[in-house]
Amino acid sequence: MEAHGRTSTRRALLRSGAYLATAATGLTAAAATATTAHADDRRRRRAAAYPPTHWIPASTSNYRVSSRPTSYPIDFVVIHVTQETFPDAMKIFQDPAKQVSAHYMVASADGYIGQFVREKDVAWHAGNKDYNNRSIGIEHEGWVDDPKWFTDEMYASSAALTAAVCDRFGIPKTRGHIIGHVEVPGTDHTDPGPLWDWDRYMSLVNKA
Ligand SMILES: [Zn+2]
Repeated sequence: MEAHGRTSTRRALLRSGAYLATAATGLTAAAATATTAHADDRRRRRAAAYPPTHWIPASTSNYRVSSRPTSYPIDFVVIHVTQETFPDAMKIFQDPAKQVSAHYMVASADGYIGQFVREKDVAWHAGNKDYNNRSIGIEHEGWVDDPKWFTDEMYASSAALTAAVCDRFGIPKTRGHIIGHVEVPGTDHTDPGPLWDWDRYMSLVNKA
């Protein structure tokens, strides 16, 4: 009895195990079908998350309060290189006499992101009123002729930020909309310069 009982129990367990395995396979298959059918939709809907940012307000004399994207559509991300260290550029944004700011600045060594102006407000970074009105400005710590400032950490952090900005405002993740300061009409600035790796940057933005 005892042996028989164990055997019966074991058979029952095996049967129920087989049933559960079959049921699980069925569920997995159904889930896989659903995943395939809706993967594209989910990819489209999933917005890139903002990387960590740190609020370091610019002087209120260095930007214009606005209510974007209601007041102006936000169509561009403008990429800059500071030609200053992060701390020195930060002091400039906080100096009311300077009349200059950017929404964000990314540090070279670790990709730390400071935010100086709210996205709804108009930062003064592009040297072109129309482009300022319709863009988010991102500064990068370093010098255009010294690519050692353009670290992996900086590219990764900045690309994650740009991807999140683009998703938030529906900006296409293309070079027509993610532009260098040098590409702003009428500018005499050359940043981010020819040593900025646009192919790498755009690839990171689109993978974020
Ligand atoms: Zn610039």
